[in-house]
Amino acid sequence: MAEETIFSKIIRKEIPSDILYQDELVTAFRDINPRAPSHILIIPNKLIPTVNDVEEEDELALGRMFTVARKIAKEEGIAEDGYRLIVNTNSYGGQEVYHIHMHLLGGRPLGPLLMS
Ligand code: AMP
Repeated sequence: MAEETIFSKIIRKEIPSDILYQDELVTAFRDINPRAPSHILIIPNKLIPTVNDVEEEDELALGRMFTVARKIAKEEGIAEDGYRLIVNTNSYGGQEVYHIHMHLLGGRPLGPLLMS
């Protein structure tokens, strides 16, 4: 059984966060340390630590993350200019919170994908 992270508390609304969207499968909220004018995290409500732990039964929730990304990008007014979706995995991927999350970043030109 994977260990819960702070994101489980956000899903259950046990700690404050700026939730933009929630349904039975996913939750989306603003990143506490935004790296762009729009920086939103979209996560499955089920605790899946990393992409390495994804199973076929998770496909509905993982697909929902993309439809929610589309919806939020439109609401944020960044759909036309463009944005970036990122899922970091394990240490080389820069993952800090071990509950899968999709970063939605936009609102300025983001430059090349890899800075270092
Ligand atoms: P990653 O490095 O891909 O694991 O990203 C984790 C992200 O979670 C970082 O961008 C953090 O700023 C963000 N984060 C950590 N704690 C919180 C929190 N309580 N509320 C919102 N975002 C958070």
